[in-house]
Amino acid sequence: MKAQEHLKGVADPDFLALGLGGTNMMSMLWTVATGHRAVGVEMRGDPFLGVHWNIRVDLYHQLGLIDRMMWERYGPEGVPARDDGSPLRLADCFYGVGTVSGDVIADTIIDGYDRDQHIVGTIQHVEFIDDRWRNGLPERVITVLDPPRPPDHPDAGEIRSDMAEVLDGPSTFQAEASSVLLLLRRYLERIERMDLESGREPRVRLFTRHRVVTTEGDGFVHLPDGRRRIRIEALQELDFKGRFVRVRAPGSEVIDIGVPELFMIAQGFDSGDAKRLGFEQRDVAIDHGDGRGPVVAQADYLAGLLEVLVDGRLRRRISSEFDEDGKEYWVRQIAVGHENDPEVGWVLVQIPDFKSLDPIEAGLVPEGTDPESAEFFAAYQHLVYDFYLEQCADVLELPKESLEKVQMLYGPKLFSLVERVGDDALVAANGVVAGDSFGNGHFLTSGGAMTGMIGHSARVLGYWRARESGTTPAEAIRELAEAIKEDTAAWLRVSSQEFSQAVPINFGARRIREITAASGIDTAARAHAVDATRRRRHSLLPLDPSDWRRLFIRNGQVLSAPLPGLRPTHPAASRPVTRRRPVRP
Ligand SMILES: Cc1cc2nc3c(=O)[nH]c(=O)nc-3n(C[C@H](O)[C@H](O)[C@H](O)COP(=O)(O)OP(=O)(O)OC[C@H]3O[C@@H](n4cnc5c(N)ncnc54)[C@H](O)[C@@H]3O)c2cc1C
Repeated sequence: MKAQEHLKGVADPDFLALGLGGTNMMSMLWTVATGHRAVGVEMRGDPFLGVHWNIRVDLYHQLGLIDRMMWERYGPEGVPARDDGSPLRLADCFYGVGTVSGDVIADTIIDGYDRDQHIVGTIQHVEFIDDRWRNGLPERVITVLDPPRPPDHPDAGEIRSDMAEVLDGPSTFQAEASSVLLLLRRYLERIERMDLESGREPRVRLFTRHRVVTTEGDGFVHLPDGRRRIRIEALQELDFKGRFVRVRAPGSEVIDIGVPELFMIAQGFDSGDAKRLGFEQRDVAIDHGDGRGPVVAQADYLAGLLEVLVDGRLRRRISSEFDEDGKEYWVRQIAVGHENDPEVGWVLVQIPDFKSLDPIEAGLVPEGTDPESAEFFAAYQHLVYDFYLEQCADVLELPKESLEKVQMLYGPKLFSLVERVGDDALVAANGVVAGDSFGNGHFLTSGGAMTGMIGHSARVLGYWRARESGTTPAEAIRELAEAIKEDTAAWLRVSSQEFSQAVPINFGARRIREITAASGIDTAARAHAVDATRRRRHSLLPLDPSDWRRLFIRNGQVLSAPLPGLRPTHPAASRPVTRRRPVRP
């Protein structure tokens, strides 16, 4: 690419997205759909996030609205096309009544090579298993809910603006995060390509192996009026002693983006750029109502991808675990599948707070074994895998022995969920922080991507609409920052339930009342929890985003038979009960 073309349409963009996850790519799309110019900067190349998302219906309606706005503003010559020249419509690739779901390759759907499938699966089974003990004995209460009916076309009138309302309702779709992200990325790339080819000023420019220069004062250049000028650098990524390391690409020059009217940092839960601009997050504390007052909202989970046909299913389970003193703890598990895809069986299981996963304590290695030794780590991995499969067996209702033979593409990986949030999203006169970088709640609400993609990005649409109606940039960005905070606060509110109460929020408020009535356990009853600061497991492990690109395969079988019907009895009821558990106080 010639130098001028390389930087055509880059200087002083209307919108600059720092980090190209769902939050910022949707924001770029709204920006372009309202007639503005957007530049995006991402350091990890193509989307890679391997998790499977439960998705609220609003995203489908929003994609439909973007398609319509693009068509109305730019006409047939100005919207991106598939390989055969037909218009590329985001909503149609995402979901359609004339296409089906399955084991999809997102790129082939976007290109138009695969015209039979869409990216998402629909949720057809919504199940909640309450396996908490009652009166000292295992008991099971199963609630099967009606799945939400997917709409047959996108309808802008159905987009909800209140994030609490969005998150309070059930999810309609399931999809691999990277497939949805690829759809957004390819659409943006096609706009960039068609504009460069046609010679018009590019509406989109993308720098996908780049980041803001990290030298203090050199990347975010301070202007006297409080705005920032932004300079980025090209990166070379290398696998250095088992870690991904990024250095400036040899021989490359810094690229001056100039001064964007608005820039947004959405780089995941720990953003170095946001920190550089003075942004700080604080831990969220939750009062469990157990007399201890507010304690840090933390829970530890194991995440893994089993190749089992979980299908179009969202299954949640809550069960009782007991410590040595017989004190009861509630733990949660979630199984997420994909309609017609036997390779998607995401199961996440909570580790009870009292469990140390210490190989010495478990008697697997002798006292004094070096924690850095291979023997210690092997024993630790064994403990983790064993506990994970035990829990998976209970949530999937499949024998542990058969799960031992199943192929795993990821995990089980331990991660700590700690809720954190910032005070103010405004970090410069022309910059805000959004998505997980601003704050994060509990992933069991299936709300993180939704808050950023449906909530925060629509606030960027609100920003451009406010600007069109004469609001100054200073007023518009203040409103944007407040709105980002409001959306995240809604996510945190619904998340608090996942830390203490039993019933999952993402089944919808009405259904929660039904489930509570069926379980017979008082809603005011709370789980025991150990204060995060007094846990036996001290490390706070976030999921490392780069792990999605360094997969560890546990080779084995793909189970494509449907899951067995749910047994009416508690799994512990069919196992010999050695000790009668005490009644929860
Ligand atoms: C196991 C699990 C299950 C989940 N399930 C759901 C679910 O069902 N529903 C749901 O809504 N949410 C779910 N989430 C949460 C969801 O994945 C996140 O909330 C969401 O990805 C956040 O989007 P984001 O755009 O804010 O950031 P991210 O998706 O984290 O994207 C940030 C991007 O910024 C890039 N980046 C980082 N630093 C820099 C830098 N310095 N320069 C340039 N680029 C940078 C990263 O490479 C990345 O591409 C789940 C999360 C997990 C871990």
